[in-house]
Amino acid sequence: MRDDSVNPHLTILYRGPLSSCDYDCPYCPFAKRRDSPERLRRDRAALERFTAWTAECGHPVSVLFTPWGEGLVRSWYRGTMVELSRLPHVRRVAIQTNLSGRTGWLAEADLDTLALWVTYHPGQVTHERFLARCRELHALGVRFSVGVVGLPEHLQAARRLRADLPPEVYLWVNAAEGHLYTDEEAAPWAALDPLFHHSRTPHRSAGLPCRTGESVVSVDGDGTVRRCHFVPEVLGNLYDGSFRQALRPRGCPLAVCDCHIGYVHLEPTGLYDVFAGGVLERIPHVSLSGW
Ligand code: SF4
Ligand code: SF4
Repeated sequence: MRDDSVNPHLTILYRGPLSSCDYDCPYCPFAKRRDSPERLRRDRAALERFTAWTAECGHPVSVLFTPWGEGLVRSWYRGTMVELSRLPHVRRVAIQTNLSGRTGWLAEADLDTLALWVTYHPGQVTHERFLARCRELHALGVRFSVGVVGLPEHLQAARRLRADLPPEVYLWVNAAEGHLYTDEEAAPWAALDPLFHHSRTPHRSAGLPCRTGESVVSVDGDGTVRRCHFVPEVLGNLYDGSFRQALRPRGCPLAVCDCHIGYVHLEPTGLYDVFAGGVLERIPHVSLSGW
């Protein structure tokens, strides 16, 4: 029987040196950026080191890869996803992806553990091509959510996608960065994503309890551990184990938290209940009316 008090479960948000993408989204600093061969080598070596640590860590773990760019076009991310999904102490391994790559490799993975956080970027891929990829995932039995950035020019594409996706696939909407939505502007997005209100306005988080720094950590390619991707203070290193003595409950030191990969862990949001079983891949645990 599992005893999490002796071997506590740790959630890790991993982001290595990779910072390149095959897409060219106008709202992204990584659009069409290329990594040098040296940077790609470093990214691969860092990911392999992280994968080896995770395989041997000796306690339950869940991992979300949040690359700056697209990871699944690189063989080492696909290999890591497959390898970690098959380990009994890995409860979830997920990655944020634009789904531009092929899906056949997923057949090798344990699909009870692997999941995908998929973002649709209208303007970079046709509706038909993106929908076909989503249908491939669905046919394979892959757990995935699909989302869009809530820019006005995406609305028609998002509506069309919602209409054509299998009804049980959750479509989320991220508020566009720096965009304040009037009630009138928010309404069509909330009609697509019943949880849009969580993204619409940044969460006031100062001093509030957040699971990061206790049961959730952010790790970079050198193994530097921080509580989350947004707070720069270093807690220690993954590979020398020094981070462990720093893990404890702590309030958020920032004024606001406006990214789902952060505020989902902010306790007063109650989002662990909403996304129970699908926190990392952003899949609500019950079907919400309206999608
Ligand atoms: S797919 Fe993602 S990482 Fe790539 S350019 Fe678009 S927003 Fe940036
Ligand atoms: S609320 Fe957000 S910014 Fe604050 S500690 Fe948690 S994840 Fe980090």
